[in-house]
Amino acid sequence: MKTRGASCGLLSSFAALLFIATVPTAAAAEWKAGVARAKITPQQPVWMSGYAARDRPAEGTLHDLWAKALALDDGNGGRAVLVTLDLCGIDRDFSVRVRKRLAERHKLDRAAIALNVSHTHTGPVVGSNLRPMYFLDERQGKAIDDYTAWLEEQVVAVASDALAALAPATVGWGRGTATFAVNRRNNVEADVPRLREAGALKGPVDHDLPVLAVRDPATNRLRAVVFGYACHATTLSFYQWSGDWPGFAQIELEKSHPGATALFVAGCGADQNPLPRRTVPLAEDYGRRAAAGANATISAGLTPVAPRFRADYSEVGLPFAALPTREQLEKDAASKDKHIASRAKFLAQQWDRDGGLPRTYPYPVQVWRLGDELSLVLLGGEVVVDYALRLKQELGNTAWIAGYSNHVMAYIPSRRVLAEGGYEGGGAMVYYGLPSPWSPDVEDLIVNEVRRLAAAPAAGAGAQKLPVR
Ligand SMILES: [Zn+2]
Repeated sequence: MKTRGASCGLLSSFAALLFIATVPTAAAAEWKAGVARAKITPQQPVWMSGYAARDRPAEGTLHDLWAKALALDDGNGGRAVLVTLDLCGIDRDFSVRVRKRLAERHKLDRAAIALNVSHTHTGPVVGSNLRPMYFLDERQGKAIDDYTAWLEEQVVAVASDALAALAPATVGWGRGTATFAVNRRNNVEADVPRLREAGALKGPVDHDLPVLAVRDPATNRLRAVVFGYACHATTLSFYQWSGDWPGFAQIELEKSHPGATALFVAGCGADQNPLPRRTVPLAEDYGRRAAAGANATISAGLTPVAPRFRADYSEVGLPFAALPTREQLEKDAASKDKHIASRAKFLAQQWDRDGGLPRTYPYPVQVWRLGDELSLVLLGGEVVVDYALRLKQELGNTAWIAGYSNHVMAYIPSRRVLAEGGYEGGGAMVYYGLPSPWSPDVEDLIVNEVRRLAAAPAAGAGAQKLPVR
């Protein structure tokens, strides 16, 4: 583009003058999009994330793990980059470092940078994410630190590559469906095939499968397919690297659209499992079903999205229900439960470093508006399905709700799940190294913040920046 402009500058200036003289309104803006990918499969044996029971590092690769990036530019100053990662989780420090580097390098607003992890349980441990879950020697700890440092470079590079590849594009979106996610709190795993057969599965689910497609306007070829679904990537629990069912879904979509990049955005599937599970054919099958849901949506025709972009981001202080005393930490550090002891040591280190423990966690909430047609809500952590159902009802049919975004600090239960308790309600806080369950008001704090960001004036003329808080 640059070369062409330079070689016929005079001619194009003349043409532009003519154009302005004959058309009183400004030329319509158009999207530009850029896509890039980088392999992030560990090249050394590294501990695998997501399950406490593993006793050794990974032993091979089923299929590669990827960092993929989609950059968007609305032609009117609105620019953004989304990075999706075939990983279980990333911690706040890693996320803040990556986003700070990208913001500085590309003069991007922090609100316009989003990271999302697929939550595959056959990916590597990254940084301090879920560290109290594992008992690692020095060598294994160093392998994770080395991988994390290398990964940071790959993520910064892939986002930068996507921003460097911006070219004219059209954007459309739609909502499909896939039915393999099951509420894991309300159904006994072994009973699921029988319950499904009888139409008797219980508990809330979100079977929507939102799809955003980016095309080359000259050829109409697909360049990127972003798709979301609310379900854990826990079909597999073995010792081979894989993206689990979202990995297979991306492979399948890229097969059906040669030249296109498929990016998976994890939804609010913290209490949803792909059931039954534990075999590679099942992971492949769920992947194929997600891809089929995306393809059916694309074939049915997508809603065109107008080239206007607005991003808002803030961090809400989510309160913990209680904080331990120093004496309690000393007592817990001697607990027979090795995970309780591990968390207590983790928190004691934090106490010594910071002079105490924080009462709240800075929880990331992000809303991206694309035209008037799509509001993409990106929430941090492992968000239970109640949030997606409530927010879609409140925000209406333009809403796409994602979890596992920017960083994964804990499960994020609704008021209902918090009151019910169990793993997602509070039990998992131990593995995340957090001091106690959340306070009961976290659902309202998060929903109110989403509402506030989503209610800001739409993108384009007159849009004001919200104060960051
Ligand atoms: Zn999980």
